Amino acid sequence: MELPDICEVLGQEQPGYRAKQVYDAVYRGQVSDLVQITSLPLGLRRELAQNHEVGLPEIAREYLSTDGTRRYLLRLEDQRTVETVLMPEGDRDTICISSQVGCPVSCTFCMTALMGLERNLTAGEIVGQVLLVSQKNHLRQDGGRLNIVMMGQGEPLLNLPNVLKATRILLDPAGFSLSPRRITVSTAGIIPQIEELGRQEMRPKLAISLNASTEEMRRELMPITRKYHLKDLLEVCRRYPLREWEKLTFEYVLLRGVNDADADARRVVKLLANLNAKVNLIALNPGPEIPYQTPEPARVAAFQAIVRRALPCFLRKPRGLDIFAACGQLKRNTG
Ligand code: SAH
Repeated sequence: MELPDICEVLGQEQPGYRAKQVYDAVYRGQVSDLVQITSLPLGLRRELAQNHEVGLPEIAREYLSTDGTRRYLLRLEDQRTVETVLMPEGDRDTICISSQVGCPVSCTFCMTALMGLERNLTAGEIVGQVLLVSQKNHLRQDGGRLNIVMMGQGEPLLNLPNVLKATRILLDPAGFSLSPRRITVSTAGIIPQIEELGRQEMRPKLAISLNASTEEMRRELMPITRKYHLKDLLEVCRRYPLREWEKLTFEYVLLRGVNDADADARRVVKLLANLNAKVNLIALNPGPEIPYQTPEPARVAAFQAIVRRALPCFLRKPRGLDIFAACGQLKRNTG
């Protein structure tokens, strides 16, 4: 049973504030067992704990990188496994969560694509990744220390109802109380769902995987874009209702000799010219079955320098490369 359902049952059978006490304890007090909710009478606690579990995923394995990144292989109720990554950095923590088991989008540079789609995660399983990793590592979300990125396994916008429900739970001031500035969803560019996301009052920030500077190259690297064309994507971006503090983020994976030329950088600038945007570059994280190479650092720097003349452009540092935790490497690797 998922937590919102437990609260609903409680609300009917107990005074309303009891449900709020449970909600508070689980999302703010960070208890992992209902018997620990000390604000409830002992009898009720025991009864709850006997009949319900908080329902967090179980840690099947944990991998620790030399750079401090942790990759969790989580076992779900149906025994399927999915991955979540914690990246501590100075006084900030970022949790990268999955939205699906596997992924239906077959980007040619991404290892998760090789799994195919197994299933969508429920809203409880999406939130559960955040609660579990926060509890395990005693993370604090106050003062904007904690960032959540939905950039793990899956294409979040192909599981939009659950992604939105999870986002509302994480943003709820009475619950986990995350700031909307601290949660980002990344998409390969599913146009109708981008529009739907824009219509939501409670929504994460939007990042879009651009990854190419021409329609033809994008089709080659991201076959799903045969359906969702670059021109239409950029048109939807122009109309996207950004909040006053918000920019659109475009991610661009650099593949040696494929999309990393100066001419590509200049085309990226042109494509994004009329948008309130920033660019995050990612030099390819290689994988055994990935038919591309990582560009030299000097090439990456030259590309960044060109884009940066026109708009903010950052290079994303690879995290957890040694434990297969970096972007595009989440494929339940046991190495
Ligand atoms: N499906 C969503 C969420 C995944 S986010 C999306 O496509 O945006 C993962 C990010 O990592 C994407 O921007 C993707 O382009 C990038 N990525 C995938 N494989 C990669 C690899 N091997 N090396 C570096 N970045 C990669």
